[in-house]
Amino acid sequence: MKAIRVHEFGGPEVLRLEDVPEPRPGAGQVVVRVRAVGVNPVDTYIRSGAHAVRPALPYTPGLDAAGEVAAVGEGVTRLSAGQRVYTAGSLSGTYAELALCEESQCHALPERVSFKEGAGVNTPYATAYRALFQRAQGRPGETVLVHGASGGVGTAAVQLARAAGLRVVGTAGTEEGLRLVIEQGAHEALDHGAPDYLGRLAELTGGRGVDVILEMLANVNLNRDLEVLAKGGRVVVVGSRGTVEINPRLAMTRDATILGMTLFNISPRDSASIHAALGAGLEAGTLRPVVGRELPLAEAARAHGEVLKPGAHGKIVLIP
Ligand code: NAP
Repeated sequence: MKAIRVHEFGGPEVLRLEDVPEPRPGAGQVVVRVRAVGVNPVDTYIRSGAHAVRPALPYTPGLDAAGEVAAVGEGVTRLSAGQRVYTAGSLSGTYAELALCEESQCHALPERVSFKEGAGVNTPYATAYRALFQRAQGRPGETVLVHGASGGVGTAAVQLARAAGLRVVGTAGTEEGLRLVIEQGAHEALDHGAPDYLGRLAELTGGRGVDVILEMLANVNLNRDLEVLAKGGRVVVVGSRGTVEINPRLAMTRDATILGMTLFNISPRDSASIHAALGAGLEAGTLRPVVGRELPLAEAARAHGEVLKPGAHGKIVLIP
């Protein structure tokens, strides 16, 4: 079968399409025929060798995909051949025609969700859910600022928050992104490239500030986030690409909380709870991943270049 292989950590050019042996499922394992692969920024950090997760070389990248169960191993009870699934991690990597997974890494994909959309479920939606509900404890009636709402995690967060009854403000850096944020259910969209765009939040919240911020670029925004938080507000650091100086008094005077998170720390129990919630939202149609761009699997290197560029518009997916 065809798979993307990485023989050394480095730039996008280290992603090469090769022929590799087909995986076979062991006990408790499943082989998924991959129909679409979700590309995430974390795939690029791991490929570069700069991430805490450093797979043994050579390896096939990818956590997220959607497809059908091709084969099941001994003792697999929840899944059967032919079933539509999305993956939340994989033993062999998802940038391939077939992916070997633990049974627990595969979740049912409702008929109404296409494979391309399904490839955009795991990392974006599990992250958004974890940040909004498990870390920030967001509640109906609260206001959330999704700071970076036009990308994979941001569009997921907007849909989740809107469906749960929060007031949603999302930011984007392009006209197209701002339109997308509103289409996904935000009550207001702000341009994070405009001067003093956060000033508008005082007006939108009657001077209270926002209760929750999901922050996609903390190294740029964290101090300003603290300035626009309501008393008792929570900021969840979802993404950060450098360091930042903050004024701790801003947190002090608001009884504010800054929370970190990484999906890699999640417990099996929290993960099961998240995927149960996502499954329900996908089935009901309140959650609908936005596919911005499709590329053939052979163009994985191009996808890794694109996913880090400004001007996000939903997910980039690869088609094997
Ligand atoms: P993405 O699809 O590339 O989206 C990036 C988002 O950041 C876009 O909405 C982009 O908006 C926005 N952005 C750009 N400049 C910004 C600024 N100055 N202020 C606020 N937002 C800005 O990436 P993603 O998959 O959504 O992931 C977002 C971040 O979260 C990445 O850094 C990723 O590594 C991280 N992440 C962390 C976890 C975790 O477990 N902690 C899990 C998943 C992702 P425009 O392009 O419209 O300007």
